[in-house]
Amino acid sequence: MDEHACRACGGAAGHLVLDLGRQPACDYFPRSDDPGPDPVYPLQMWLCSSCGLAQLLTDPTVPEEPRGTEPAALVAQAADAVERVAASGWMPGRGVVTEYGSPHGGSWLPMLAARGLTPAEDGPADLILDCFGLMHAADQRRALAERTARVAAGGVLLLQYHALGTIIRNRQWNALRHGHYAYYSTTALTAMLRAAGFSPRTAWRFDLYGGTVLLAAQREGEGRPGPDDAVLSLLADDARAGVSGPDAFADLQRDVRAHAKDLHDWLGAERAAGRRVVGYGAASRAVALLCQADVDRELLPVVIDASPAKQGLRMPGTDIPVAGPAELAARRPDAVLLFVPDLLAEVRTAFPEVEAQGARWVDVEALGSRRLE
Ligand SMILES: [Zn+2]
Repeated sequence: MDEHACRACGGAAGHLVLDLGRQPACDYFPRSDDPGPDPVYPLQMWLCSSCGLAQLLTDPTVPEEPRGTEPAALVAQAADAVERVAASGWMPGRGVVTEYGSPHGGSWLPMLAARGLTPAEDGPADLILDCFGLMHAADQRRALAERTARVAAGGVLLLQYHALGTIIRNRQWNALRHGHYAYYSTTALTAMLRAAGFSPRTAWRFDLYGGTVLLAAQREGEGRPGPDDAVLSLLADDARAGVSGPDAFADLQRDVRAHAKDLHDWLGAERAAGRRVVGYGAASRAVALLCQADVDRELLPVVIDASPAKQGLRMPGTDIPVAGPAELAARRPDAVLLFVPDLLAEVRTAFPEVEAQGARWVDVEALGSRRLE
């Protein structure tokens, strides 16, 4: 294998910290009548010893057009974030804003336009917003440089990311996926910003995905003082979690087998007891879990998903079909296994018939020995 060069600093020294073996591309949902086998590719996380950026080692997959619907939790968090940024005086009252969005949706632009900012696609901007966008760039150094170069004098760069410390603490190993090239700690992102002539000034935390951070950075020598206590507290959390060294990832790797076994055992026990289980949420994060756990349609006959674009397809790497919400009532399950726990409040409201028929929602992240206190 060619030596890997860090996607941010170019360094060659690093550790393989998480290895999920060979996995199908998680955005490649074949038609349900496609017998497979689906192509599989190595899925591995590498931690740079020089700058501390956790990153996808190789990615031979070609991203598919995302088909998901925008979860209400993401929309609510965006509104909350805009409120909090504005309340703390970090939202420019007017001027130009550019958004580097995520291919999975979740634009803040309508809210920012309503607050008097003018969206622009190119040229300098008073506010550059990146909401889960940067992680999708294979060349991290170039992608960050493109964003910082566009920040106008005295302007602000806002970067939102699912914190690496959260992934480690909550054992969210299935956050690792093809197409997501970087997994940021505040520590690593600070080093990347510094290399681009920027530094963090303040930050906000959100519960989204168990712990999401929005970081405000400005050009060195410009803008407001910092880092403030919010940033220092994130850096201290990173140090406690040991995000820059390989040891902290050992539990994450161990949990892959444990989580897969818990899922397989639970589904087997439900079937043995004669209880019907269906899945909910044909999300990319469910793909690696179902493959690791060797779950087929004998154990889980269907995964329900609200996105019309996913119906008639099947889960990658398995024979489990994806069906629309009408199947929820038709199949009269005893339990609905939820692959996207952030959706719990939303699906309970959207599908009251599930509980009315005596079924329960089961959080796949909280099965068996894995339950987090
Ligand atoms: Zn590096």
